[in-house]
Amino acid sequence: MLCIRRATLLTPDAQIDDGVLLIERGRILAVGDAASIAAPDDAEVIDAVGLIVAPGFIDLQLNGAFGDDFTLTPDTIWRVAAGLPRWGVTSFLPTIITSPLSQPAQAQETLESGPPSGWRGSIPLGLHCEGPFLNPQKKGAHNPAHLRPPTLTDVAAWSPENHVRLVTLAPELPGALAVVAGLAARGVVVSAGHSLATYREAKAGFAAGIRYGTHLFNAMPPLDHREPGLPGALLGDPALTIGIIPDGIHVHPTMVALAWAAKGPQRLTVVTDAMAALGMAPGRYTIADQEVIVSAHDQGVNEARLPSGSLAGSVLAMDEALRRLIRYTGCSLGDALRTITATPADLLGLGAERGRLRAGAWADLVFLTPMLEVVRTVVAGVVCYER
Ligand code: ZN
Repeated sequence: MLCIRRATLLTPDAQIDDGVLLIERGRILAVGDAASIAAPDDAEVIDAVGLIVAPGFIDLQLNGAFGDDFTLTPDTIWRVAAGLPRWGVTSFLPTIITSPLSQPAQAQETLESGPPSGWRGSIPLGLHCEGPFLNPQKKGAHNPAHLRPPTLTDVAAWSPENHVRLVTLAPELPGALAVVAGLAARGVVVSAGHSLATYREAKAGFAAGIRYGTHLFNAMPPLDHREPGLPGALLGDPALTIGIIPDGIHVHPTMVALAWAAKGPQRLTVVTDAMAALGMAPGRYTIADQEVIVSAHDQGVNEARLPSGSLAGSVLAMDEALRRLIRYTGCSLGDALRTITATPADLLGLGAERGRLRAGAWADLVFLTPMLEVVRTVVAGVVCYER
């Protein structure tokens, strides 16, 4: 048994000072304060005095890191996942962008095969298929040669059991609503994104089963007070959850604060949308089959663009995203943590298992300094990163 003690626990629903966590067989056995929980004498003890212990971070949109791109080389998922705990990420959705359908199929096989023996790292919870059913006029960094209209045949093998958790599509495309309904009925979270949907088209998509909006404000029509469009529909509907990229490049900090005010911690998820250059120096990289130029932007984050100037994912790490969300919105640490723990877990239907410090959940934890630097990351009870 592992005992973590003298921590400030952010569950994140509550703060527990002088907190104690007991962990056995990868799962949390008990959570409470020192007065209420006694560790057995033979427990291995980690003393977390002066540190915050929170649920591990969950990233719903990650394209790659350490020079590898999941769409181009799906078999790099496990290798990249092994390095993600340095940023506090304990589970994530490897994201496959617009490409021939052989690419998501290969990624499904990679996840089905499981990790190499002895592997430790951040758990891939299933794929986020971003495309290929996107609006060509809002393609962003997606290669238009591979865009296609949605059909039920193309998504016949996409389900959580087959390692597809989330699908981003443009609901205004012909045939999209039937695909939304089909995927939602199988338990796939369907998201609107890379879309020119009007307010009315967006609401029709929500009625068909869309529950999420991919990187709010990016690759969608602008928010307009007479035609609210997709962003207005996402902000205005309390049932919808959104993703947002708080790197200071994709969305102006004031618009992050506006989205925060509209959605709050239960309906806003911070995603990185990070690409192959995460953890690497500026230079030339790829996203799917396209070249990306990564250059220095400001302290703590670089920017990634196609030669045409289109943004091509971010170079934002999740711990930096957490700090920036707080800086941009003035929100509490507990609320900020929720956007990368409980809220994404709940969206995926995994709220009992992940995203909270609660008895029975996987012991996925991040230890943070008061400055919110990651010092230790635990996945399923195993220390996977120590600074
Ligand atoms: Zn995108």
